[in-house]
Amino acid sequence: MDLLINNANGLYCPIADVYIDPWRPVEKALITHGHSDHARTGHTKYIAHNHSVPILKSRLGKNINIHGVKFGESFSINGVSCTFYPAGHIIGSAQIKLSYKGEDWVVTGDYKIQKDGVCTPFEPVKCHTIITESTFGLPVFQWKPQATVFEQINHWWKTNAENNRTSIICTYSLGKAQRILKYLDPSIGSIYAHDSINKINQVLNEAGIYHNQAKKVVKDLRTFQKDIILTPPNTLKSKWGKQFVNPSIAMASGWMAIQSGRKRFGLETGFVLSDHADWNGLNKAIIASEAERVIVTHGYKKAYAQWLQTEYGLNAQSIDTAFVGESPEI
Ligand SMILES: [Zn+2]
Ligand SMILES: [Zn+2]
Repeated sequence: MDLLINNANGLYCPIADVYIDPWRPVEKALITHGHSDHARTGHTKYIAHNHSVPILKSRLGKNINIHGVKFGESFSINGVSCTFYPAGHIIGSAQIKLSYKGEDWVVTGDYKIQKDGVCTPFEPVKCHTIITESTFGLPVFQWKPQATVFEQINHWWKTNAENNRTSIICTYSLGKAQRILKYLDPSIGSIYAHDSINKINQVLNEAGIYHNQAKKVVKDLRTFQKDIILTPPNTLKSKWGKQFVNPSIAMASGWMAIQSGRKRFGLETGFVLSDHADWNGLNKAIIASEAERVIVTHGYKKAYAQWLQTEYGLNAQSIDTAFVGESPEI
């Protein structure tokens, strides 16, 4: 029995008449997390983890009809039991399990296995069928412990500061930015963030979910020297971003693990840091789920489904969805 099917609107559970992360407007949507390819505008009713509620309201409008749930708390829709479990991707990110007549399906949404100290850590969930992302589903993607990456980032910032250069890190405004802000060493200089990042920080701050050390960028951009600024990459092409004098610009992304990724963005420095599972993380999560059937979405889905079949003998297939992995903002 297929508890979920993939139709024109998204991943659909016909028995519950509910969608998970639909890409077209629907009646009822279960939302794994607040990134724009998963949480879209126009649904009549939203159900998401409590920590995603303020994020969705801020991104989609404060008047959206949204109900927040806790991790591990089951509720029933037309006899289908729904439970949210931590996905470890960003604040509020969840895997969603649907259970009906002894059949369990899990939609992972985006996830990572590494603990980041900011969001609730990933929890493996047992099921019969798992729908997994595969953004970094190739063996070349292997993450270092985050402590190592933050040592690299702080060292780079310190070196720039000693040379009177401003450090700029290009990053997602929701997720990666909060993670980086938490581990920057404030003894090196002042920490600033672009308005779009500060806006999300403020929402999380007001909800009592996350506190950060970033200041607003209010001073003249030409006067930054020993400081560090976090900003979404597209802002650097704007008038605003072009005012920095001799900055050192870095990108923090899983794509920095490969040469073509580094070349593509043409930046001086790349830090390999992702909120998605790396190759080992994906394999670990899928084996831990004990699922016999795996449906692979956004990323290296065909190659990864093939690998799961040949390596683990799993019934694996890939499907097309409108999710976009780590690429949209870079
Ligand atoms: Zn995401
Ligand atoms: Zn995604």
